[in-house]
Amino acid sequence: MNKKPRIVILGAGYGGMMTATRLQKSTAYRDAEITLVNKHNYHYQTTWLHEPAAGTMHHDRTRMKIDSVVDTNKINFVKDSVVEIKRDEKKVILEDGELDYDYLVIGLGSEPETFGIPGVEEHSFAIRSVNSVRLIREHIEYMFASYNKQDEKSDDVLTFVVAGAGFTGIEFVGELSERIPELCKEYDIDRELVKVYSVEAAPTALPGFDEELVEYAMNLLESRGVEFKINTPIKEVQDGRVLLADGEEIKAQTVIWTTGIRGNSIIENSGYETMRGRVKVESDLRVPGSDDTFIIGDCALIINEEINRPYPPTAQIAIQQSYTCSNNLKALIAGKTEMEEFKPDIKGTVASLGGKEAIGIVGERKLYGNSASAVKKIIDNRYLFLLGGMPLVLKKGKLKFF
Ligand code: FAD
Ligand code: NAD
Repeated sequence: MNKKPRIVILGAGYGGMMTATRLQKSTAYRDAEITLVNKHNYHYQTTWLHEPAAGTMHHDRTRMKIDSVVDTNKINFVKDSVVEIKRDEKKVILEDGELDYDYLVIGLGSEPETFGIPGVEEHSFAIRSVNSVRLIREHIEYMFASYNKQDEKSDDVLTFVVAGAGFTGIEFVGELSERIPELCKEYDIDRELVKVYSVEAAPTALPGFDEELVEYAMNLLESRGVEFKINTPIKEVQDGRVLLADGEEIKAQTVIWTTGIRGNSIIENSGYETMRGRVKVESDLRVPGSDDTFIIGDCALIINEEINRPYPPTAQIAIQQSYTCSNNLKALIAGKTEMEEFKPDIKGTVASLGGKEAIGIVGERKLYGNSASAVKKIIDNRYLFLLGGMPLVLKKGKLKFF
């Protein structure tokens, strides 16, 4: 081992950024050489991406330069894309180089789950990054701009299909349904011509969530013109149309794919044993059988023993894991072997529905409407506070609560 152990953190999302800033706040950076690798020189908040995707927020609000939060005198930052992890050689292959490590933290986030459904890759958009949501927003605007330029008007131009009514799908539909009246006004289009379908395979939207809150969300979104197709799996996406399992087809030039996620394929391709691309980690967040590699965030799978099912991959869990992971790294570089166990502390779930509307459960309390929306903004600001303190909240936070 080098004089100073080398810690390499892959991915500057919720898990990676918080692990880096936790280490930076301690004395760990003096005892170890810490390197954070990310494919962009900015960190973006994945949990806000449905807003710039629909165009209700500018994408710059969701991102910040990494070196504005991470002190590069204490943590090395490498802007590069990870290609492969060579576990046996303790080496990370990047597009433009390679890095050796003594301890590795993998926080590379997720990829859309397509379930191998034909045409999804080729003909749909995913809400995954600043680049992907900028494309969605531009495409939506282009559809509105195109409509009145067509010689023969075709309805599919103004038909938007959102595949999957989980939290991402519902939050996006909420934003889109708020944006459409504005777009109709700007492009001289009758609102009645615009169709938004939320298509869900399960017997309800937001499967597993509180029924009363789901009903509230669906009624609200329907009142804004969203049409739900529930219990209706999508079986194929073609250029300009979506084929449903019940035989129906929807002609649409825009399909947004939000049917869940899987772990970053780099992990599977690097030879780790995965379930839907995620590694079932030990209670200390290390890879089974490995003393040197931690996996956190959407790439990690942890089981909720009470129901014997995986915890859903969330920022809430990724942030909590960064605390355990950074504590364990600090212990390792101090020569200790006893590791902290990760115990998720689920505070609740709040989902925005666009405008000043949201639904959620916090503790035992159900929240609707404006109060839920205000709580959602507090949650968003809390993360900024944990990451960069009050200055970051004031710079990037959501400060209009009602
Ligand atoms: P991410 O935050 O996605 O970060 C991964 C990082 O790795 C990114 O910076 C990426 O650029 C980088 N990266 C990827 N590949 C490479 C590579 N090859 N080389 C270098 N860098 C790479 N969860 C909640 O708890 N609450 C919410 O309200 C919520 N809302 C959401 C809303 C939306 C629209 C979406 C899509 C998700 C939402 N989630 C929410 C889920 C949450 O965003 C994820 O669980 C969380 O982002 C996972 O954090 P992470 O650190 O694992 O990955
Ligand atoms: P998800 O797995 O929660 O939901 C995907 C939905 O797509 C499911 O309802 C599923 O039944 C449906 N589906 C699957 N195949 C389909 C098909 N062929 N046709 C139609 N529908 C299909 O995934 P997500 O919404 O992408 O969320 C990913 C993770 O991020 C989850 O853990 C979620 O909890 C989290 N998240 C949280 C929030 C929040 O807390 N506000 C917001 C967004 C995402």
